[in-house]
This record gives sequence, C-alpha cells and structure tokens, in this order.
Amino acid sequence: MLNNTNNSLCNDAKSQLEAAYTYINVKANIKNILSVPKESLEVSIPVKMDSGDVKIFKGYRVHYDNSRGPYKGGIRFHPGVSLDEVTALSFWMTFKCAVVNIPFGGGKGGVIVDTKSLSKGEIERLSRGYITAVSDFIGPDKDIPAPDVYTNPQIMAWMADQYGILKGVPTPAIITGKPIEFGGSIGRSDATSQGGLYVIDSAVKVLGLDKNKLTVAVQGFGNAGYNIAKLMYNSGYNVVAVSDSNGGIYSDKWFNPEQIMDIKNLSGSVTAAAIGDIKKITNEELLELDVDILIPSALEAQITKDNANNIKAKIILELANGPITHEADKILDKKGIFVIPDILANAGGVTVSYFEWVQNRTGYYWDIDTVHKRLEKIMVASFNDIYSNCNKHDISLRTAAYVLALERITKAIDARMHV
Ligand code: GLU
Repeated sequence: MLNNTNNSLCNDAKSQLEAAYTYINVKANIKNILSVPKESLEVSIPVKMDSGDVKIFKGYRVHYDNSRGPYKGGIRFHPGVSLDEVTALSFWMTFKCAVVNIPFGGGKGGVIVDTKSLSKGEIERLSRGYITAVSDFIGPDKDIPAPDVYTNPQIMAWMADQYGILKGVPTPAIITGKPIEFGGSIGRSDATSQGGLYVIDSAVKVLGLDKNKLTVAVQGFGNAGYNIAKLMYNSGYNVVAVSDSNGGIYSDKWFNPEQIMDIKNLSGSVTAAAIGDIKKITNEELLELDVDILIPSALEAQITKDNANNIKAKIILELANGPITHEADKILDKKGIFVIPDILANAGGVTVSYFEWVQNRTGYYWDIDTVHKRLEKIMVASFNDIYSNCNKHDISLRTAAYVLALERITKAIDARMHV
C-alpha cells in the first residue's frame, strides 16, 4: 500500500469538491474521510515480450471510497498514467456513481504503457498479468473494473477470463464492458456517448435551443468521441470538427463522422479527411472554435487557465474525465459558458456497466430497448435534479452535481459509521 502524494491533478479534482462544501453542510469527520483514498496498490507486471525478453510494466489500482457499494471504475492503458492520475480518476468515479445513484463507490486502475507499440499477444499477456497482480484487491462484490482510455472489450474478456482461471470459477461480474458473447451487456460499447446524448438533449431542451441549428466540435475520436459525434450527427446536430491525437479537421458546413472514421481506419488519422471544404486544424485550435457545443472526449486538463479565455463555445459537454482544470472552470463560469460536468456527462458508461453487472448476477439478459430506456431515465432525471439545484442556489452545474452526490455519499457514510 502506498501513500498518495499531494500531486496536482488529484488536488485539482478535490478543489471541485471544496467548492460544493459551501452549499451543503457536511460534518468535518466526513470531509476528512473523503479527502483521501481508502487504499492504493502499485504493482510491477512482468510480461514476456515477443522477442523473448521480459519487460516490467508498472500498474495501479486505487480504491477511493466504497460507502455506497463496491469500488467501480475503469482501467487505463496509457504512457501518461501515474498514481496521481489514477487517484483523481477514482475520486471522480466516487462522485459519478453517486450522481446517477447507482450502488457503487469509486475506484480506478491504470498501467503505464503505450499499447500502440505492443503486439496483440503482448497486450493480452499484459492484461492477464495486471489481473494476476491485483486479483486479491478486486472482486465482484468488492471492486469491479471496466474499460477506460486505450482498453476495450477484448481486453476486458482476457481480464475476466484470467480472474476465472485464478479463482477456479468463471466470474463474469468481476469486470464490465466485456464482449456481448462473453457476458457483456448490449448497449455498453457506446453507453458513455448515448448517456451524453440524453444529457445534451436535455440541456438543449431547457435552454430552448433547436439542435438542428447547433454546431458541434468533438476533441478525441476514441470510443467516447467517435460515438458521440456519430450519435449527435444522426440525431440532427451539425458536427463541424473532430480530432484525434494527430490533429483535427474543421468544416464550415457539417460532415458525417462515420465517413471520417472510414478514412481514419484506412490512414490512421482523421486528418487525412482534410480535403476541399474540410480543413486541417490542431487540437488546440479545435478547442477554441466558435461553435455552439464543445465536447472534450480525450484526456484530462485540456482547458486550463492558459486557454480558457479563448473558448468560444456556448455549451461544453465533458465526455472525458477532468478535461477542465479548476482554475479554467472559474473562468468559463464567469464567461457564462454552460459546462455540463464529467461526473454527469459521461456517467452513461458506468451506468450501463451497472446494468451489465446486474445482468451477470441474475443471469438474465436485457434487450437494447430496455437498456436505452433505463439509461435515458437515469440520465434525464440526474440532469433535471442537478439543473433545478443549480438554478435554486445560483451555482454551476458542476457544484450542483457535487452537492447532489454529497447528499447521497454523506448519508451512506453516516448510516454505516455514525461519524
Ligand atoms: N471508464 C469509464 C468511466 O470513466 C467507465 C467506468 C465503468 O464502467 O466502471 O466512467
């Protein structure tokens, strides 16, 4: 077990919580409990590479809080993973699960790795090695991992299989985001974006806007970014800009994200679609476009105090975790930008993970209409609860979301511990 450092991303995340303490009476003992993760595990994972050499990868799993239920949260494979980042992500999971009122706490995992430099076999051995290393730290009633940046259903299948081998019994509810053929839930693969669409539709409705007239820029073209661009295009919004880690494209008309994905699949990047009316732009330029809706869907800390003043979008849907720093958030708030916070905006993923876990445990599988109806109900109700609170107290949607989550978390802590 490790001591978590006072590093910046996690402290920045906690500033969001501090802001909410002004609007809700939380006992000092509970604030203390919520100021640190319960436990953190750092592991070294030996992986036999295709060359025959053994390479050691560093991985983490952090348990932030389990007052409302088992720890829940994805596993990230990325070169930039650190204990600080995983801790911040586990913190956000705690509040996210409370915002949508699903019976989970918050956890997160990560491995420092660039998957683009690994073969499929190496990624499989790393995935199995990670589970072997953390197998006593997780469990279907204790801590349930899922996909995150650069992990996917195939990786979840290897991980669930490995857990079943180690424990001597198949345990599908150990992990969510699995392939449908191996205990996954229908509708999980694009659930983050589907949930984001329900939320943005609700926002557009309360703001009295017409989605057919709104322009949209999406940063990131992974699972979350691509699917939100596709779903919004199909639902009538005008997608005018998208980007991946190599850069972005912009058109003063709209384009079909599915066609852009075909080009990315052939060439490796969305930037290859920059032909005719479609112009190449940088990721930084994408964030500063004069669009109605901006959707950061990649990594954290993309909008900081350095570029916040240049943001022109009227609405920001945080599909990534933590894309706006606390300082930047204050600037955007002053500018009157309607920021829909990550702990609501991207909660569709973990909500359908919850559905998957329920289906695994009951052995009864739902159809897509049931998944979508139940997801819509949760996302729309959560948006409406937060929106009415933000109007009542004249606070940002983010602070209102933390207040709502805190009401639920503090009640759970009190019921268990009488602090
Ligand atoms: N990684 C996703 C998130 O950040 C999903 C987590 C889950 O399904 O447990 O919300």
